[in-house]
Amino acid sequence: MKVLKFGGTSVGSPENMRAVMDLVTDGEKKIVVLSAMSGTTNALVEISSYLHKKNKDTALIFIGKLEQNYKQVVDELFTSDENKKKGLQVVQEAFDTIKSFTSGAFNLVGENTILAQGEIISTNLVTLLMNENGYNTKLLPALDFMKIDEDKAADLVFIRQNIASVMETVGDADYYITQGFICRDAENEINNLQRGGSDYTASLIGAAIDADEIQIWTDIDGFHNNDPRYVENTKKIDQLSFNEAAELAFFGAKILHPQTVLPARVQNIPVRLKNTMNPTDSGTLITLESDGMGIKAVAAKDGITAIKIRSGRMLNAYGFLSKVFKIFEDFRTPIDMISTSEVAVSLTIDDTRNLDSIKEELANFGTVIIDQDMTIVCIVGDIIQEEQGFAPKVFKALDGIPIRMISYGGSKHNISVLVPTDCKKQTLQSLSDNLLNG
Ligand code: ADP
Ligand code: ASP
Ligand code: MG
Repeated sequence: MKVLKFGGTSVGSPENMRAVMDLVTDGEKKIVVLSAMSGTTNALVEISSYLHKKNKDTALIFIGKLEQNYKQVVDELFTSDENKKKGLQVVQEAFDTIKSFTSGAFNLVGENTILAQGEIISTNLVTLLMNENGYNTKLLPALDFMKIDEDKAADLVFIRQNIASVMETVGDADYYITQGFICRDAENEINNLQRGGSDYTASLIGAAIDADEIQIWTDIDGFHNNDPRYVENTKKIDQLSFNEAAELAFFGAKILHPQTVLPARVQNIPVRLKNTMNPTDSGTLITLESDGMGIKAVAAKDGITAIKIRSGRMLNAYGFLSKVFKIFEDFRTPIDMISTSEVAVSLTIDDTRNLDSIKEELANFGTVIIDQDMTIVCIVGDIIQEEQGFAPKVFKALDGIPIRMISYGGSKHNISVLVPTDCKKQTLQSLSDNLLNG
């Protein structure tokens, strides 16, 4: 069985929902993962932020607008009065849930429950639409099988066991629809897989049912060699290895949620990226092997903080780095990049929740310098296969860019540089002009 995921734009209007229905109803049994309609999760985040600020009146205005939009969607989506009524019930239920948080205290569980409503509405509406059009379609409630543990890591054993029993409970169908993004956490509360998490839902389900293929359908014809939001003349890549795609996704390529590739890689399930607006295009295929063509692509991850610890005590001493890393471990803060000299170590983090405490602890070892608003630009490919002189080519392409850190040699797929976020666009464009399209 295949797992197909359709993103926000792909289900962003009644017309697009119908296009998704036409795409998936080819007679092959499958699981279809849907995001919320585009713009919905952002709107729900905004509503939640007003509720956090106790600005109930503004929250209610935004809730009212969003509800009105959905009523319009229902009216356009269904033909029969009976289904229009059922569609309105779906919308009503979701908005009753949202409105229930406009009185009393508001907390993270409330926020996560509100954020879940986008996927709950889209999946219920598309299931109804497909049944109205004569397709035997059943909804698999993601909250009954999708789970993260206390470290917020996906619990694949739980997911595997529970998706099987949920499928059995709902009964046989030609097509199954489920919500992307949403899950339950270790406390059994509603939670999510972070923004963009529907891709990850699809790959977790793919791994759980040992799918033949995981397809991520979106609004672009596949993985491009640079970020099309910042750079002109990007080109689609036909094939990537799991490792290359994982590095690009981890380092900011928005087309894939950072963790999407991992479950697929473990079970060697091909991942195909496809364009809902141009379904005949072959897209990008992600498999075990790289086709070995040197530098493939670049990606950029914003919101990075660089920390430099300068200390005379580092000179010729052992155990210094392990003490430094222990502090990050104690504060459960992952490190992305590292570089060292005899008297200093620089590293980067993106989770700054414990930055003040980390800084305080590090100060026991030496002078601490913090630079915020940095971006990691990551150059990915089968770099070992590249002819000699790869590094000079990269440095030439980065001529004039104020590089703060470089990481090379950690894997054969990746060279990363840290630049101020102000210089990100220039860096990406220069890499496109001199390295990718040159
Ligand atoms: P969806 O809502 O379908 O999940 P996303 O907006 O999350 O879609 O991801 C698709 C978008 O990712 C594209 O429209 C594009 O602007 C952006 N993007 C960023 N980097 C890349 C890249 N390297 N290749 C393709 N798209 C990219
Ligand atoms: N709807 C969620 C978001 O906007 C999840 C997703 O689209 O993948 O982040
Ligand atoms: Mg996405």
